[in-house]
Amino acid sequence: VISADFLIDNADLVATCSGAAPKRGPAQRDIALLHRASVAALQGRIVFVGPADALRSEVALEPHAVRIDARGCTVVPGLVDAHSHLVFAGDRRDELQRRLSGTSYAEIAAGGGGILRTVAATRAASDEELLAGARARLDQMAAHGTTTCEAKSGYGLTLDAELRQLRVIDALDHTHDVDLVPTFLGAHEIPPEYQARPDDYVALVINEMVPRVSAEGLAEWCDVFCDEGAFTPQESVAILTAGSRAGLKPRIHADEIARSGGCEVAAKVGARSADHLIHADENGANALAAAGVCAVLLPAAAFYLKAGRFAPARMLIERGVPVALGTDLNPGAGLSPSMPFAITLACFAMKMTLEEALVAATINAAWSLDRADTVGSLEAGKMMDAVIIDGHLTDLLRVGSPSIRSVIKRGKLVGGEW
Ligand SMILES: [Zn+2]
Repeated sequence: VISADFLIDNADLVATCSGAAPKRGPAQRDIALLHRASVAALQGRIVFVGPADALRSEVALEPHAVRIDARGCTVVPGLVDAHSHLVFAGDRRDELQRRLSGTSYAEIAAGGGGILRTVAATRAASDEELLAGARARLDQMAAHGTTTCEAKSGYGLTLDAELRQLRVIDALDHTHDVDLVPTFLGAHEIPPEYQARPDDYVALVINEMVPRVSAEGLAEWCDVFCDEGAFTPQESVAILTAGSRAGLKPRIHADEIARSGGCEVAAKVGARSADHLIHADENGANALAAAGVCAVLLPAAAFYLKAGRFAPARMLIERGVPVALGTDLNPGAGLSPSMPFAITLACFAMKMTLEEALVAATINAAWSLDRADTVGSLEAGKMMDAVIIDGHLTDLLRVGSPSIRSVIKRGKLVGGEW
């Protein structure tokens, strides 16, 4: 008999999302569903997932165990947000209002707005302000079901300011229940002081930032914004290769604004993920599939940017690229902290099935962050991270209505109620 101190009992449905990761092609639809099932854990680790009837004979509850009656509910793995710009300062709500009145992002950026405005505000903010802002946003993400979240630097763009953003991510990771996965994105944008000599900025990233970030152990991943008006494929290869040599695994922003060559860069450097992909074509998809790169799609970004199109999720899945999802939470157009909103757009704007979108938001997102061994599915040995939906799996799609009853991280309530 297995002992447990935590039990979600008698759920109508448990979508375990278990099995080999990442899930690609037809397997992307496999959410490994159990009916009338229970999930038990001990000290934050899952010890049993199976039929509620089998639980009675196989699991002994400790005297002060938490027991949640989940009749009428659906249980899914804790959601994993594979792409966020969590740490920043400043306020760009006025820009949003102008964009809604017809002003383009390019016009706003030319007038000193956009990313560089956030860079100025982030550089000027105190550590405490950065931490408090990020904590508040992470609380909102947790309330919407996120239990593991990637977080990037990229609004500092000097050695010290990038290190500071990464230290804030580290401090938040140690003091918040949601686990953060840190990414160095010094190559997010050319900072104003280097506009006339971008090569010098690329050299700064490669020769000074990457070695320090690595030496201080502040990031696990190195990312580059490879796109029109940002970094070229050649620069991206140089930066990501330098990152790899320093132990920072590569991932990339690709094909968001235009067909940028980012998919080919991802394949060449062995990136774990290529993100956005709004303009990705069949050649790009084939390159990703052949190299085993995961597509991290961010439909909320395309939606709020009014990009007029979404990433070709069906084409990517048909070509064997594993698809994951993220919110792209950021101060410009990443307005929603909600993974259920990303799932909803995946279904209604990118034509993914609900099962594909759930896999994208759980086990595939976990794999894209190299966390598939500990989170992303409900399996014995993994963390007790789960979302309890009041009702059916489709109730997750009722954006704006409170269908999430509980959000659980390591067996602890981090959102909703028991
Ligand atoms: Zn991004």
